[in-house]
Amino acid sequence: MAVHTVVLIPGDGIGPEITDAVLAVLEAAGAQIEWVRHQAGITALETSGEVLPADTLEAIEHHGVALKGPCTTPVGEGFSSVNVQLRKTFDLYAAVRPVRSLPGVKTRYEDVDLIIIRENTEGLYSGVENEVTPGVVMSMKVATENGCERIAKWAFRFATQRQREKITVFHKANIMKMTDGLFLRSAEYTHRHDYPNIEYTSAIIDAGCMRLVQDPSQFDVLLLENLYGDVISDLCAGLVGGLGVVPGANYGEKEAIFEAVHGSAPDIAGKNIANPLALLMSAVMMLNYLAETTEDNSLLDVAARIREAYDEALQAGEKTRDLGGNLGTAEFAQAVIKRIKHN
Ligand code: NAD
Repeated sequence: MAVHTVVLIPGDGIGPEITDAVLAVLEAAGAQIEWVRHQAGITALETSGEVLPADTLEAIEHHGVALKGPCTTPVGEGFSSVNVQLRKTFDLYAAVRPVRSLPGVKTRYEDVDLIIIRENTEGLYSGVENEVTPGVVMSMKVATENGCERIAKWAFRFATQRQREKITVFHKANIMKMTDGLFLRSAEYTHRHDYPNIEYTSAIIDAGCMRLVQDPSQFDVLLLENLYGDVISDLCAGLVGGLGVVPGANYGEKEAIFEAVHGSAPDIAGKNIANPLALLMSAVMMLNYLAETTEDNSLLDVAARIREAYDEALQAGEKTRDLGGNLGTAEFAQAVIKRIKHN
């Protein structure tokens, strides 16, 4: 079995404790990974004086794959988001967030199976904000033909490869006719010219949100520009048990960074109560990605055994507090480890 090198960024807040839990599970499952530890976020700022040190960026560029804990961003002031900076630096334009009902996690819906594809580099995340005149501030929403076309192509190719049936774009092109209009037209064009095999629909986002919470089963893959993707990811997390159970991946042409949808949760940091599952599921996505890109099929087996083990643990009621259980972060990891089957 080959050894794969992956950059590990524990991050801030609950990041280090959920990272420890995930590493313990991966090791117990026999994942042959050499972790190269680097820092980002407040933790990096405190030790090196920079939120995104050059050695962290170099390591991601060199190794191509990273597993990342959440990084804190100050609200309304201070440095700009490390997460956004990372996505921009490596042009990680496609964020993928699978949202699925889990066994043993009771919610209003039983069979949610959605995939959110979020454009990760444009929209209101351009970071261009001005004070036009005292008392008047402005934020610039950017959409480019290249950006809209490449995420549309990425989404339809992904949906085809994963044998999904339908892509729905949520937009506000009735108001933002140019930016959202371009996003919408790019998706329509890609569907018509290149991927008629995938059904395509669109909805104005406000009505789309209402339909999503009424009956998520009417959607399959959701394709969204940056801000809508951010908001809808958390909304969809609420459909399946919360932020503790939604993983994510950020893909560019060369690099990929795997991280949970949730943030650094400062309200529960350091208490051993955070749910490590979303990061563990992100690590499972990473194992599948490594298997695909390096043709090391043994990783598919490791990923499947981890998934089976956490499904079984949840089914048996072994859960963290956010899911109605009473296990701590480390105890949940041990519950999963006990259920891992060995070949
Ligand atoms: P958050 O996702 O950190 O927390 C929202 C709520 O969900 C909190 O009540 C928290 O306790 C709970 N929660 C989140 N993850 C959990 C887990 N694994 N287990 C149990 N409960 C969990 O969102 P926030 O409070 O708005 O943001 C906190 C910080 O995280 C901010 O600085 C924000 O910028 C940052 N953030 C980072 C990322 C990232 O690194 N990708 C993503 C989102 C937010």
